[in-house]
Amino acid sequence: REESVTDSRSDCLFCKIVTGEVPAEVVREGERTVAFRDINPQAPTHVLIIPREHYRDVVSAGAAEVGILDEIAREAGEIARAEGVAESGYRLVFNTGPAAGQTVFHLHGHLLGGRGLEWPPG
Ligand code: 5GP
Ligand code: ZN
Repeated sequence: REESVTDSRSDCLFCKIVTGEVPAEVVREGERTVAFRDINPQAPTHVLIIPREHYRDVVSAGAAEVGILDEIAREAGEIARAEGVAESGYRLVFNTGPAAGQTVFHLHGHLLGGRGLEWPPG
């Protein structure tokens, strides 16, 4: 729990999406997660899946909240089915730290699908 209080949730964009203070196109809500469309989509399906609780990244969340990463992965599977990309394949990505391009420090999984995805990514 300490991880979450040391972060500045008061000016966290994704915390504001959780509360509804900032609007988003929500596609699915779980008990502990919210999923919404990325404002700047990089694929036909580009959904961000976040915990309602604030964690700065995937490592903090994994250490602090048992099961949340499983839940995000499960939600991703359900959304992929609903979006019709489960068969063709999709990617679930957690950018962690500046070199990986993390710009929002509230844990989010990117669900990307609906087109061919190059590997390794750029
Ligand atoms: P990161 O680079 O931190 O892994 O990803 C942050 C993502 O959040 C980016 O893909 C960016 O387009 C998305 N994003 C930034 N601001 C907003 C917003 O206000 N609403 C939504 N829906 N997505 C956002
Ligand atoms: Zn937050």
